[in-house]
Amino acid sequence: MYAIVYHGPGAKSWEQVAKPTVQADTDAIVRVDTVTICGTDLHILKGDVAAVTDGRILGHEAVGTVEQVGPGVKNVHVGDRVLVSCITACGACRYCREGQYGQCIGGGGWILGHKIDGTQAEYVRVPFADTSTFAVPEGVTDEEVLMLADIGPTGYEVGVLNGRVSPGDVVAVVGAGPVGLSAIMGAKLFSPAHVVAIDLADARLEAAKQFGADITVNPSREDPVEIVRGLTEGLGADVAIEAVGVASTFEQCAALIRPGGTVANVGVHGGPATLHLEDLWIKNVTITTGLVDTYSTPTLLRLLTAHHIDLARFVTHRFALGDFMEAYDTFANAAETRALKVVLSR
Ligand code: NAD
Ligand code: ZN
Repeated sequence: MYAIVYHGPGAKSWEQVAKPTVQADTDAIVRVDTVTICGTDLHILKGDVAAVTDGRILGHEAVGTVEQVGPGVKNVHVGDRVLVSCITACGACRYCREGQYGQCIGGGGWILGHKIDGTQAEYVRVPFADTSTFAVPEGVTDEEVLMLADIGPTGYEVGVLNGRVSPGDVVAVVGAGPVGLSAIMGAKLFSPAHVVAIDLADARLEAAKQFGADITVNPSREDPVEIVRGLTEGLGADVAIEAVGVASTFEQCAALIRPGGTVANVGVHGGPATLHLEDLWIKNVTITTGLVDTYSTPTLLRLLTAHHIDLARFVTHRFALGDFMEAYDTFANAAETRALKVVLSR
């Protein structure tokens, strides 16, 4: 089969590799029907994620058809349409029992396209298939469900729920990529007073308006702190969501927050950021971090089937699986291509 194989910082190729086989009783082999690329894959290619080593198949998002299951798989059957989530869950360890699947210590967590081969391939081996896949409901498309493999629950759990967005809040979202847009969409479910999207790319700011931001700020032209203070009687944002993954945007969130507010960091960071504790200690500010757990995926699937969230509008570009390299270029140059999510299908 063919797959996107990582060959160290800056290097990847679409090349022929061995098709995966069942290794443990609880594995499933899924034929990848629809797959996408994450901002995290771009971080990996920058060399920000050291655990990813030469030879690894990238990707942690897919919708596919179950081709084979190990003898220990009970609820997933050959032929089922499933969402392969970015988080794998053993289902039995302490963290899984507490719903923190991202922290699974029983062999799961974020492993696909990280510690084991991932989904940017014609087939993928999914460990703990019963607890790591979601049945695709009737009446929705593969593309819509694919948006819940990572960005949907990430923006919602690590951004909106960790940030404790509440009715009437002023929510600042720094970074309006797919994850930031997902956070904007999720924040809107709680009737915030204002959602302020902050991004260097005007195309992303336009998208943010479509996803529900009422104010957009390009920090290359305007000062986000001044604008947010103007909306909040000088106080600052109730919630600031960091959805970029560089030091300056984390520091920006800390500057945007009001006393008593919450900074929810979502971005994957490859280096340290400065924490201005000398300013923050007196402000009762909460800072949350997190890897997505995907505990909200069933909720988001219900919101999707009930048409309360529109996931189709994330998809801006479509490719055949064989055009993966071009899809990467399109996604990596989002400021010019205006890409949000690129989807590759068989
Ligand atoms: P993306 O690269 O598509 O989007 C990032 C956005 O940030 C872009 O629109 C870019 O223009 C903007 N940006 C860059 N520098 C900026 C700056 N200085 N100020 C303002 N905006 C700036 O990425 P994405 O797919 O939306 O993912 C966002 C982040 O979330 C990444 O760091 C990704 O790795 C991370 N992520 C985290 C988790 C998790 O579980 N915590 C899961 C998935 C993704
Ligand atoms: Zn576990």
